[in-house]
This record gives sequence, C-alpha cells and structure tokens, in this order.
Amino acid sequence: MTHTAQDLAIFCKKKGFIYPSSEIYGGLAGLYDYGHLGTLLKHHFENVWRNYFLGLDRNFFEIDTAQIMHESVFKASGHLENFSDPTVDCSKCNFTERADHFVQQVTKQRTEGFSPEELNSLIGKHQLTCPKCKSKLKPVTAVNMMFPLHLGVGTAQRAFLRPETAQSPYVNFKLQYELQRKKLPLGLALIGKAFRNEISPRNLTLRLREITQAELQIFFNPSTISKHPLFSSVKNYKLRVLLEEDRKKNQPVERTAAELVKRGLPEFYVYHLVVIQKFYVDLLSIPLAKFRFYQLDDKEKAFYNKYHFDFEVELADHGFTEMGGLHYRTDHDLGGHQKISKQSMEVLEEATGERFVPHVLELSLGVDRTVYALLDLAYDDDKKRGNIVLHLPSSFTPFFCAVFPLVKNKEEVVTKAEEVDALLRRHNLKPFYDEVASIGRRYARADEIGIKYCITIDFDSLTDNAVTVRDRDTTEQQRVAIDQLAGYLEGLR
Ligand SMILES: [Zn+2]
Repeated sequence: MTHTAQDLAIFCKKKGFIYPSSEIYGGLAGLYDYGHLGTLLKHHFENVWRNYFLGLDRNFFEIDTAQIMHESVFKASGHLENFSDPTVDCSKCNFTERADHFVQQVTKQRTEGFSPEELNSLIGKHQLTCPKCKSKLKPVTAVNMMFPLHLGVGTAQRAFLRPETAQSPYVNFKLQYELQRKKLPLGLALIGKAFRNEISPRNLTLRLREITQAELQIFFNPSTISKHPLFSSVKNYKLRVLLEEDRKKNQPVERTAAELVKRGLPEFYVYHLVVIQKFYVDLLSIPLAKFRFYQLDDKEKAFYNKYHFDFEVELADHGFTEMGGLHYRTDHDLGGHQKISKQSMEVLEEATGERFVPHVLELSLGVDRTVYALLDLAYDDDKKRGNIVLHLPSSFTPFFCAVFPLVKNKEEVVTKAEEVDALLRRHNLKPFYDEVASIGRRYARADEIGIKYCITIDFDSLTDNAVTVRDRDTTEQQRVAIDQLAGYLEGLR
C-alpha cells in the first residue's frame, strides 16, 4: 500500500520517532527532535555505520570535534566567500524561496549549480511572478548560509557553527597523521552536527537547519589513485549508475566496477562506490531498484571536486533523493588550510621518498536523510492486518524483540514473563515489555514500531517451559523452549 510523505510525518510524531523542535512554542522551521524510538533507530544506524566504515582499514579512526570553529577555517575552505544559496524574494509580500528550487519547480528544468544571473534570466524568460501575490520578484541574490557567532563578551571573537563536518578532520589532519604513525591512506571518520541557514527548510528531516552527518575522509597519496589493493575482488560487482550520458533516458544502468574504470574513473574511486552501494543495499536493505548513483556534471559539482557521484534513494512523493556523495576533493582543503594557517600540510613518505600534500576522498552521508529513507521504505499500511507494519531491518529497529505475558492478572504468568524479560536483558537483547491490552492489540502496536519478534508467555508456558515467538513480517509463530530462547533469537539477528 503506497503512502504519502504527509502520512509518514504524522506517523513519525504519533509514535515518537521524529517531531518538530520547540513545538509547544509553535516550532522552528527546519529543526526537528528525535523522540525515544527515533533516537534508538538513529543510534542503531550510527553504530552500523561506524562498524562498517571503520572496518574498511586498520588506519581508519573516529574523532569527535567541536561544532564551533575558527573564522579562518572558513576563509581557507572558501565557505565565507562561496557558501551561499541563490535566494528570490517578492517585492511586495514576505515570499522568499531558494531561487534554483523555485525556478526548477515551475519550469521543470534542472537548475542545480545555476548562478544568480542565469536564474534571473530564466525568471525573465518565463515571466515568473510571486506564487503568493503575483507581484514582481526582486532580483536573485546570493545569501551566505553559515551561522555566525561571537565568543565571549567585550572584544568578541567571531566564529561559526560549522556548515559541514568535513572541515574538522581537515584541520586536524597533520596532528592525526603524526599520531597515527605517519601512514597513508589515513581515514578520519566523524559523526556530528552541521548547521546551515536554509532559506526554505522543509520535508520533515530531508532539508534541515541542523543536520547530522556521517563522514569518512580518506587522505592518500595522489600517485596511487589509479590502484586499490582490493579492486580485483570487486571488479565484477554491478553498480547502478546514472552517468551524464544516461540522463536523456533518465534510467540508471548497471555497470561493473571494471567498466567504470575502463571509462576513465580511477580504481580507488570506483572501489569506494562499491563500498557505498553495498552499505545501502546489503546492510540497510534498500531495494536495488530504489538506489542509484548520480554523476554530477561540471556545472553541478563544486569546482574543487574532480569526481562527484551522489547516491540517491527513491522516496515516496520525493522521487530519487540525495543521501550523500562520494567526492574526490583533491588537495583543495589541505592546500587551503596550508595557505591560510601558514602551516605545512606536506608529508614525506619514507618508502618512496615522495613529498606531497595528500589528497582527500570524502564519503559523506546525511544521517537524518538516511534514517528518513529507512522509515519511508519500511512503512507499510497493511490493510489486511488493519495496522501499519514497519519492516525495518533487524539491526536498526528500535526493539528487536518484545515480551508479553498473555494476561496480567495471573501472577505465575507475569512472574514467568518477567523471568524471560530478565533473561533476554542479560543477553543484551533489550526487549520491549508490554502487558497492556489484548494480545492482538499488542501485536499491532509492536508491528507499528517495527519490533521483529514478539514473545508470548501463556498458560502452557507454566508447564512446558516454552514460549510462542511471532515473526513481524510473516506473522508465523514458533514454540521455543525458554532455555533455548536467547540462542534462538541471537541466531536470527
Ligand atoms: Zn508576493
């Protein structure tokens, strides 16, 4: 059964996944809170992300860094000058919108990366007016999206909330390189907040003013980019990509990793495309048909990205939506920080005697967007059951299992259920315990929040020392002996 983005937003609030922040005061656009279930889901996602990406190499580590950063960081990165969105305002009313999105919506022409001048000429050509009051629109201007701050009082020092987490690994690179025994490739991973003063935030957590990013920055010797030691193990892996040349048909094509290398992409880059697709398809269980890489053209990608593929997931109402990107940023960032900080970012590789500024490959994804995608794809309004079923993969669901005493007024049944609950806790299976309402109602509530297995302790349990285990997706039930229950469930994880 299909649903709308609105259905999902209502559901997320009703169940405690995601709801507007500061809501008792009317909320603030582009700011959301995760409720008790949303927080569990988000943390589970972050842990899976950590285990997977840090597991790629022994020299990859996570760091945890300040969200407020020195003004010079953003001089070096170019954000002070360039981190702006084209904005269009009405000359009469309070209508304000991102100009590229506004023009794209009306003209159905892709406008990513268009300059204010180009957008102005499209507005003139199509004679676009304010969608609210039909008045003339003011010329498109570029508005910087960073949040400035003043530290302390008196001679206040200017600083910024970071607009991307990436700058933290870059400014820490040289120190971490020394600490991590001067070895390349070196990976610095980070899960953290970034802040962007979006002009028109919307769509629940798809466009936020405060976002959580999960990023892996890989620093490497640029002369090694054409090789990856594990490439032969993935060369026949099929990637779903929409290359520039596929745009007319708007249909992604499955191409092997080896084919993309033959077309001129370096092995080191293509290997990490495979890493990302495997993460989305194998670990997050995103159906392959709903996943694709989108190759950005020269106009769309930032000037410092030599190669840039976004990865996208198809969402209800929104179509294919960017989840993150794989960016080959060359030495743009370290070079910029070397220039502004006057500290050398060069390294000397002892094995080869080469001296160079390392290049950066950035694997970056939006945690909020990916969690949204997990919820969107899991949401199933099951008319036959008469309730929503959230088919979340077992590693992400807020609760893997639940414990239900069949009745709550029979002491022996409740005591047995509490014993089972304690047993599963000892095995770190963290069950959800529910004794309220009929068993059918409890199954429905468990389905709605994605609990994979419901364990019912009934009257027979008192004599046979066994319980009923019900599977969320099939609703099939198994009788399992209590002394084998923990092992049985661990085997299903
Ligand atoms: Zn207006």
